[in-house]
Amino acid sequence: MVVIRGATTIAEDSKEEIKLAVKELLEQIVSCNQLRKDEIVSIVFSSTSDIHSFYPAKAAREAGFEGCSLFSAMEPDIEGGLKLCIRVMVFVEKNILPRHIYLRDAKTLRKDITSIFNVAIDGPAGSGKSTVAKRLAEEYGILYLDTGAMYRACALKALEAGVPVDDERAVFDIVRDIKLDIVYDNGAQKTILDGADVSERIREPKISMAASVVSKHPSVRMYMAEKQREIAHKMSCVLDGRDIGTFVLPGADFKFYLTATPEVRARRRYDELVAKGRIVDFDDLKTELVRRDEQDMNRAVAPLKLAEDATLVDTSNMTVEEVVSFLKSKIQERI
Ligand code: C5P
Repeated sequence: MVVIRGATTIAEDSKEEIKLAVKELLEQIVSCNQLRKDEIVSIVFSSTSDIHSFYPAKAAREAGFEGCSLFSAMEPDIEGGLKLCIRVMVFVEKNILPRHIYLRDAKTLRKDITSIFNVAIDGPAGSGKSTVAKRLAEEYGILYLDTGAMYRACALKALEAGVPVDDERAVFDIVRDIKLDIVYDNGAQKTILDGADVSERIREPKISMAASVVSKHPSVRMYMAEKQREIAHKMSCVLDGRDIGTFVLPGADFKFYLTATPEVRARRRYDELVAKGRIVDFDDLKTELVRRDEQDMNRAVAPLKLAEDATLVDTSNMTVEEVVSFLKSKIQERI
C-alpha cells in the first residue's frame, strides 16, 4: 500500500469552490501517478475549520471517485496555519514511488517532497556508482535508475537474437522494439526484458563487454538517453552511468563523478562475482575492465568524462558509508 499526499486551497468557503478544488487535486494525483481509479483503496481528507459549505469526501464522490472509501475530518485551528485548506491522503494498491501534489497556496507547504531533483553519478566500472546511487535513492525515497542495466539488456537481447553487437543498424532494429522495464521488488531492482527477469544474466562479464560495444552506437545511445530523460523529467531520481552529467541531463541538480584505481575497481567486481559463486580470474577481469573503460572514454558520442561542474570523488580508500555521507553532505548544502 502506498500513500500519496496532497493539499490545495480554496478562494472562498462555497460548495462550488470546494467541488472544483477537490476535483482538480484528485485528477492531478491520478494523472501524475498514472493511476487507475480502481487502484485507489481509500481517500482521507482533512480541512481547516473555516470550511463548512461542503464535505470534500462528497465532492470526491461527485467527481467520479466511487469505488473507494471516503472520509472527511476537520482539523484543529492552528495559529498561523494556512487558511481555507484541504489536505488529502490517497491510499493506493500499487507499488509506485508516489508523486505528492500540492496546488494553489498549498504549494508552499511541502517543498521537500514535491520539487523534482535529479542526481547524476558517472564514473568508470567498479567505482562504486551503483551501490552509492542505490543508497542515496533509498535515503531520499526517490527512484534509482541504473542506466547501465538498460544497455546491458540491449546487449543481451542482441546476443540472444544472434545479431553481431558491432552492427549498429541490426542492433538498433532490436533496441527499437525492446520491451524493457526496471521494476522494484521488495527494494531490489529487477530488469525485465520481454517479460523475463534478466537481472542476473545481464551481470555476466561477456554482457559487460557487449554492452560497452552496443552503447557506442549513436542511434542506440540517442534512443536510450531519451528514455532516461523522460523518466528523470517526471520524478526525482538518482541516475548512474557514464554520460548522465554530460549528455543525458547536463542540467542535473547534482553531479558526481566517482572513480578509484583500476586495482581497487577490479577487486570490487571480483569480490561481487565470487560472492555470487562465480569462478573468475582476477587478472582477466582487470584487463577487461580497463579495456572497457578505454572504449567508454574514447567513443565518439557521449564518452565517459568528468563534467566541468561535477564533484570528483576518488573512492579508492573510502567505505561505502563515507562516500554516501559525503555525497549527502554536498546535496544537503543546496537542497
Ligand atoms: O554501469 P555498467 O557497468 O552496468 O554499464 C555497462 C556498460 O554500459 C558500460 O561499460 C558502458 O559502456 C555502457 N553505459 C553507457 N552509458 C551509461 C551507462 C552504461 O555507455 N549511461
